[in-house]
Amino acid sequence: MKRRPRLGQHFLVDASVIQQIISTAAPATGEHFVEIGPGRGALTGPLLSAGAIVHAVEIDPALAKELRERFPHERLNVHLADALEFDYSALEGIGVPHARLRLIGNLPYYLSTPLLFRLLESAAGFRDMTVMLQREVAERLCAPPGSRRYGRLSVMAAARCRAEPCFSVAPRAFEPRPRVHSMVVRLTPDSRYRIRRPDAFERVVRQAFSQRRKTIANALRGLANKEQITAAGIDRTLRPEQIPVAAYLHLSDHLD
Ligand code: SAM
Repeated sequence: MKRRPRLGQHFLVDASVIQQIISTAAPATGEHFVEIGPGRGALTGPLLSAGAIVHAVEIDPALAKELRERFPHERLNVHLADALEFDYSALEGIGVPHARLRLIGNLPYYLSTPLLFRLLESAAGFRDMTVMLQREVAERLCAPPGSRRYGRLSVMAAARCRAEPCFSVAPRAFEPRPRVHSMVVRLTPDSRYRIRRPDAFERVVRQAFSQRRKTIANALRGLANKEQITAAGIDRTLRPEQIPVAAYLHLSDHLD
């Protein structure tokens, strides 16, 4: 079968890594899983064997067809769709109880950052997400304030989820091998923070990290004034990467 490298098609072939991912997600009978990019079914098969109901979102028509043929199972629903555009909330309409949906995926790496932002927006609709990413993106996702990798992705994730790095995966676990190392991350949505003004929050964080070497006061010029920054409890001389998520939320709640 033809492989389409542009679609990030690196298939898992290492049985012990597949087992480790499945143990991390720990699927149980009757649970509903969205699987992003099922490919040839390395994770789909074990999910079905564990008794899960799988909603697989695959963009490649040949792979979607192959998957249906390989697993002619009433618990497998294959959606031929772009995971970036897919309406995850529509699954509620087919009887999946709100916030009981789980998500798993060995994500196509060319798409992982925009897809993560999209999934984070829908995070409240998922009980948890177990995703494999290129290690560098996984590190950004899980980075705490003050670390080199802390940035827009870390802040947007921390506002909605707990993000735990689980384990690294070497290129030899895939066929063909990718050029980079990978890492499995578990995201568990929580309600520690309230995002009252999502658009303002998004704007503040985007602008702050587009100029991460400047002080926060300079980076946010035109969006937030010095008084607003100070009123949010932020030291104006700090750099964007030193500021925790709660302070960004506080600031975006109090913008004009
Ligand atoms: N889950 C399989 C595995 O672990 O072996 C395949 C993983 S492979 C890294 C990524 C998969 O995502 C491929 O099957 C690819 O066709 C699919 N894919 C790529 N872009 C996609 C998109 N925009 N929406 C849905 N699936 C996509």
